[in-house]
Amino acid sequence: MDHLYRFSFTNLPIRGQWVRLQSTLEAAGQYRAYPAQVSQLLGQMLATVAMVADNLKFSGAVAMQSQGNGALRRSLAECRNHTNLRGIMHLTDDASFPQSNSNGSNHDIGAWLSRGQLALTLIPDEETGMQPYQGLVALEKQDLASCLEDYFARSEQLDTRLHFANNTETQGRCVTGLLLQRLPNHPDASEADREAAQDAWETLTALSATVTSTELGELDVQTLLLRLFHEYPCVLQPPKSLSYQCTCNSDRTDSTLMMLGKNDLSTLLLEQGEITVDCEFCGHRYAYDGGAVARLIEQIDELAQAKKEKPLH
Ligand SMILES: [Zn+2]
Repeated sequence: MDHLYRFSFTNLPIRGQWVRLQSTLEAAGQYRAYPAQVSQLLGQMLATVAMVADNLKFSGAVAMQSQGNGALRRSLAECRNHTNLRGIMHLTDDASFPQSNSNGSNHDIGAWLSRGQLALTLIPDEETGMQPYQGLVALEKQDLASCLEDYFARSEQLDTRLHFANNTETQGRCVTGLLLQRLPNHPDASEADREAAQDAWETLTALSATVTSTELGELDVQTLLLRLFHEYPCVLQPPKSLSYQCTCNSDRTDSTLMMLGKNDLSTLLLEQGEITVDCEFCGHRYAYDGGAVARLIEQIDELAQAKKEKPLH
């Protein structure tokens, strides 16, 4: 089980988040054996969606998706219900990956995507009645953390500092993220309070910039906060648990297959003896023998019948 902590600095409009993903990344790598660099990048994306989801005021999901022409063709990292993570990276067969620095925390995201696009989507659950919101993350800076700092400044008008570390001792299968965010001043704050808050923000972000990959990747959150910001007392909230969990299920797989139509289903069954669908996120295999395919075809007929009886107009 992995954990995310949020914290706030006493009497200052400054908050933070710390997240470390290890078992999540191990689970993500179980089905697809990602090279270390790819796993590190996926880890940073998963850490990002976990932190964004932690701030959601509604139930729903947060997804980070990319598509591009570089070594990374498509990717998706998702956090559902604030706690369930899953992700996938689709690579080209050409194994020439962009260089990253030795500890793997500084990925040149532009080179990975090569004129691609990176988007962050908030997907409220249906019952909220809210519309999804998608924002593009501009790839003007080199590493993902810096691109995201710009994104938060633009989309939320919040000054943000974000640092990632990939723990090299565990072969890149662990990522830690540290985020600091400057909240708006309290409306009643005096001029002196505002100045003090801004001074504290500048000092805290300067201190956070001194964090080494070893400190960020290996220290626990209490020790890290004390070591970096010991002059600024902060309150650590109880941790939130995170884990790798897929959302695939047999109902959804049924619907996907039914969209193929009766003819294609019958042909597939004839050709293969049994139809199998493997979930690309978790590797779960859904198998349909002759009986199961016959039931799907029955359902297709029932749906078609129901449509005929209840015309749309
Ligand atoms: Zn699955």
